[in-house]
Amino acid sequence: MKIPEIFEEKKKAGKPVFSLEVFPPKRKKNMNSIYTAVEKLAVTEPDFISVTYGAGGNIADNSTCEIAANIKKRYGIETVAHLTCINSTREDVKVMIERFRDSDIENVMALRGDIVPGEDIKREFSHANELAIEIQRKCSDDLEILGACYPEGHYESPSREADIQNLKYKIGAGVRVLITQLFFDNRCFYGFTDNLRDAGITVPVSAGIMPIVKASQIEKTVQLSGASLPHRFTEMIARYEHDSEGLYKAGIEYAVRQCRELIENGAEGIHIYTMNDPQVAINVWEGIRDLL
Ligand code: FAD
Repeated sequence: MKIPEIFEEKKKAGKPVFSLEVFPPKRKKNMNSIYTAVEKLAVTEPDFISVTYGAGGNIADNSTCEIAANIKKRYGIETVAHLTCINSTREDVKVMIERFRDSDIENVMALRGDIVPGEDIKREFSHANELAIEIQRKCSDDLEILGACYPEGHYESPSREADIQNLKYKIGAGVRVLITQLFFDNRCFYGFTDNLRDAGITVPVSAGIMPIVKASQIEKTVQLSGASLPHRFTEMIARYEHDSEGLYKAGIEYAVRQCRELIENGAEGIHIYTMNDPQVAINVWEGIRDLL
């Protein structure tokens, strides 16, 4: 099923779309671990699961396509396959989207990918909107396109206004659903979605939520994300930084509270960054399932 149709159906029912994100295991030999995780995640009855794509854009690695196709085939859960373009040639993109289509994947998230300083890039694509145009051109009837957005602005953008103007190119190129970068302060999401509507962007926007449950995530995710940290969040970190059980519980509670407030304030979708830890996503889902 196409993701925009899921949003339409849920909107009619007055419910948010609930989705999850997983990533391919680093080592091929651990491939089964992702299916074990998805099998557990299935209890949450997600509207879809999205599968990230390696930043390197290596088409020899077919993991994203394989996992997305299997999630649909084995578990009957709708999927979105991510695809980056900064390190891909037009030919690479053609091959990947043909593989998606041949694997019955109906939804793709068109991304640029991060530019790693010092790393050689292919330069055939500069931005996600160009990838979206390419997907549209090759298989507009078969593939629905999603895109990424940044409630606090993308780190390369000179301003949030410029970022929103650039998002318009994505929408113009056929992106029909947006999923946000993680954030910890819901006010950022509300301000951002208001600005989108003011700019005439009306596609559904799903809120990307990452539960922070381990001290190792504080440096890796929290500090690198550049997301602003509300007082309640920094207080939680300070209190439980050296108490792993306490942090786990408080991190879940924080994410549940964030999701509940977002849903109560009309968010059209909640997208959980699972970090391939099914229990964390299940715990959050248990705290919001009455609203789904
Ligand atoms: P773009 O939309 O191209 O934006 C990048 C920058 O360029 C922004 O500053 C934007 O304002 C500007 N810009 C955009 N279009 C134009 C234009 N036409 N002209 C001038 N400037 C423009 N990375 C991965 O490697 N694999 C993944 O699977 C993955 N999944 C993600 C999922 C989500 C929900 C999110 C939020 C991010 C994901 N990322 C992933 C990270 C993403 O690749 C990076 O954030 C990357 O730096 C930007 O990607 P983008 O598609 O938003 O790029």
